[in-house]
Amino acid sequence: MGQNIKGKVVVITGASSGLGEATARHLSTLGARLILGARRLERIEALASELHAAGGSALAVKTDVTNRTEVEALVQAAIDAYGQVDVILNNAGIMPQAPLEKRQVDEWDRQIDVNIKGVLYGIAAVLPHMQARKSGHIINVSSVAGHKVLPPGTVYCATKHAVRALSEGLRMEMTPYNIRSTIVSPGAVATELNNSISDPEVAEGMKAFYQQVAIPADSFARAVAFAIEQPADVDINEILFRPTAQE
Ligand code: NDP
Repeated sequence: MGQNIKGKVVVITGASSGLGEATARHLSTLGARLILGARRLERIEALASELHAAGGSALAVKTDVTNRTEVEALVQAAIDAYGQVDVILNNAGIMPQAPLEKRQVDEWDRQIDVNIKGVLYGIAAVLPHMQARKSGHIINVSSVAGHKVLPPGTVYCATKHAVRALSEGLRMEMTPYNIRSTIVSPGAVATELNNSISDPEVAEGMKAFYQQVAIPADSFARAVAFAIEQPADVDINEILFRPTAQE
C-alpha cells in the first residue's frame, strides 16, 4: 500500500507541533512530498530541514489559517513547487475550553476562526485545482469531541461537530470530481493542545486527564497514512480512534 503515498504532494496545516508534525515525519518516511504550514515559521523550517537531511522533500510556508490569503498562498506554493496538490490535511486547531458562563467570547471567536473557518479556507484553496484534475483528497481533523458534547468544552465540541458536518457534505458534493473526503477524529493524544486552555482550573483537569490516558501522536499519523494509501476508488470516510484507556 505504501506506494500510494510515495510522491504524493501533501499540504499540512498546523505542522509545527503535535499531530501535524508527527504526520509530516511519518508521511516523509513513506515518500510524500510535503508543504508545511503554521504561524511559527522557525519550527516548520527546522522540521523541513530535518526531513530534507533524511532524504525527504518538504517546504515551510508561514501560514495563519484564519487568513484566507495566506492559506491560498500555502496551496499555491505547493503547486508552484511540485505542480500539484494531492492531499490537504486541515489539521490546525485550538482548544481554549471554559464554562459558557465565563463568557470567553474572544475565545469562542478564535475557535470558530481557526477550527471551522481555517478548515473552510483550506477546502476553498484546493478545490479549483482538485476539481480541474478530477483527483484529490481532503482530510479534516475533528475529534471524539465531534461525536460527544463534553462541557466545559462546549464551543470546542461545536466546532468539531461542524468539521464533521462540512466534511460529509463535501464528500457528497465532490463525488463527481473523484475527490476523497476523510474525517480523522482522535481521542486524547499527547501534544501541545492543552497549552491553548486559558482557564487555569480547566487546564489543570485536562492536563491530569491527558497524563493518565493520552497516547503518542504517531497513532494519528498512521491513521492519516491509512486513509491516503487506499486505492483512488476507496474513500475512508472517517477514522475515530482513542486511547484504549479513554472512556
Ligand atoms: P498542538 O497544539 O500541538 O498543535 C496545533 C497546531 O495548530 C500547531 O501546529 C499550531 O501552529 C497550529 N495552529 C494553531 N492556530 C493556528 C493558526 N491560526 N494558523 C495556523 N496554524 C495554527 O495540538 P494538536 O496537534 O493536538 O492539534 C491538531 C489538531 O488535532 C487540532 O485540530 C485539534 O483540535 C485536533 N485534536 C487533537 C486531539 C488531541 O488530543 N491532541 C484530540 C482530537 C482532536 P502555530 O501555533 O505554529 O501556528
